[in-house]
Formats: sequence, C-alpha cells, structure tokens
Amino acid sequence: MKKSYWNELTIKRTGVSIVQINLGNACNQVCTHCHLSASPSGSNNMEIDAAKKISQKLIDSDIQNIEFTGGAPEMNPHLAFLIEELSKHDKNLCVRSNLTILDQPKYKDYIELYKKHKVNIISSLPCVTEEVVDKQRGRGAFEKSIRVLKQLNEMGFGESDLSIDLVYNPAADFLPSDQCQLELFYKKSLSEQYDIKFNNLFTMVNSPINRFDEFLNNIDKKDAYYQLLRDNHNPKTLDKIMCKNCMTIDYQGYAYDCDFNLALGLKMKSLNNVRFWDIDLKNLTQEIVFDEHCYACTVNQGSSCQGKLI
Ligand code: SF4
Ligand code: SF4
Repeated sequence: MKKSYWNELTIKRTGVSIVQINLGNACNQVCTHCHLSASPSGSNNMEIDAAKKISQKLIDSDIQNIEFTGGAPEMNPHLAFLIEELSKHDKNLCVRSNLTILDQPKYKDYIELYKKHKVNIISSLPCVTEEVVDKQRGRGAFEKSIRVLKQLNEMGFGESDLSIDLVYNPAADFLPSDQCQLELFYKKSLSEQYDIKFNNLFTMVNSPINRFDEFLNNIDKKDAYYQLLRDNHNPKTLDKIMCKNCMTIDYQGYAYDCDFNLALGLKMKSLNNVRFWDIDLKNLTQEIVFDEHCYACTVNQGSSCQGKLI
C-alpha cells in the first residue's frame, strides 16, 4: 500500500513539559464533534489505583503543567484527589471543563475547588448564539454555559490570577476563522449581551475522528473535509505541533502523543505496553506517531489544545 505523507514524516518529540490526564469517556453531553465519542454511558473511567500512581509519578518529576480532560473530568470521582495532591506540590493545573457539568448540583462544588487551588479552566463554547451551541452540544447547553460562566466571573475567574479560556471549534465541516478577530468578537458579544468576561479564546480545528467522522459520513462530506484539510496544510506549523512537548495519559495509564491519538488507540512509539508510571520521562525523544488526522493540527495557522500554533 502506498505510504501517505504522514506515514513518511519523521519528527521527534523534544521531551515533555505538559501532561494531559484523560480521566475517561463519561460525559453529560453527546456533542456532534466529539473525537472521543464521550457520553453519559462512557464506562472507561480512571480508577483510584491509576490516579494515585500517575499523581506520584508527576510529583516525583519536574513536569509543572498538568491538564485534566475527559469526557467530563468532573464525572470521575478521583479528580478532586488529583487536584488536592498535585496542588500540594505547586503544579500548574488546568481543567478542560464543558461548563454545563458545573450547572448540575452534584458537581457545583468543583467551582470552589478550582478557585481554592487556582486551577485554570478551559471550556468549549463553539458560538455566542444559543441555536448553534445547542445544535452541537445539546438542547439547553448554551443557557447552562452562560449561567456557569456568570458564576465563574462572580467567583473571580476571568481576571487576575484565576483564568478562564474559551475554545471555539466549527459547528460543521469548515475551518475556524482568524483566532484574534474571533476573540475580539466573542469578548464584545459576551460582554454586551451577558456581561461575561474571559481571558483568551482558542480556535481549534475539528479532527475527523469518531463522532465527527460519523457526522462527516452522514452528510457525505468526509472526502471533501479531508481535501479541505490537505488544501490548507501549512508545513510551517510542523515546528510547533503540540505533540512535540505534550503527552496524554488514558484512564489505564497508557501514553499517547496527544488526545487525538488516544481516541484512535495510537500509543506512543515503543511504549505500547508501558504505563505512565514506568516511563523514563527524562528521555522521551522518540518519533511522534502521525496519521491522516494530523492534517487537522496543521492547517493555516495550526491548531492545538491551546489554539493556533503560529
Ligand atoms: S466534546 Fe467534550 S463535552 Fe462534548 S461530548 Fe465530548 S467530552 Fe463531552
Ligand atoms: S493529531 Fe496533532 S498533536 Fe496529535 S500527533 Fe497528530 S499532529 Fe501531533
């Protein structure tokens, strides 16, 4: 079989300075673009034994930046333990929260915990209109997100040392517009309509994996979307792709170059059977595992969990 551009590309990681802990695929939402196909019935959730081993490994390492993701990380009962433990060692913590989970009485207390430990919050808000958000994230998602954002602002998030960043991703088979302009638009719109403040807006390109892949198939746009990604591929972004210094850990402790590779089951090279707590973190310079979905990170100004790359 003919090798693709991505199969022939050889780029090594430079090490690891950010670790994303994916706590599992349980989520209160069922978004159309979800590359993890997370849902309320998601049953791959990290257990306490893995959480303890991951936490200790991070405490013993000099890695400072740790992110929690999912699913909805709040739905994993061990998120609070991880935050408490890692905070004792002055790690910089960040949670990727979908906002609506924090509107549920069972999970509301996380807001206090995030404030107490200065956990940065990064949240998806794919539009500033109810119609678009609800279409992608489910009925009522916009109203709940706005309610939680207001509450976070009241608690001090969105200014000084408590940050809340928002993530924009397209609602269908198109690419994001310019991040800086979109951030200005979001800030103006959310401020004028709802008196909401936030720190930064990150634009992300939808990766054609799992539920977004199904969505493309259903509207018969899969080939066209890949063509769009290929047509806009910018090789200059390859120097900055997030997998050069980030890694993702799954609920069982296995390691991936990123959350997209996790979703595809593509483990880090030479670490197929090794758990995070057994990895030599000082010598992580192996080749990154690429495939066709990597076009999504390398179009135009690039795309990553922290928005554009260049
Ligand atoms: S995109 Fe995020 S909020 Fe939506 S279903 Fe997936 S994990 Fe849940
Ligand atoms: S999907 Fe993006 S972050 Fe993941 S390996 Fe490919 S280029 Fe790197």
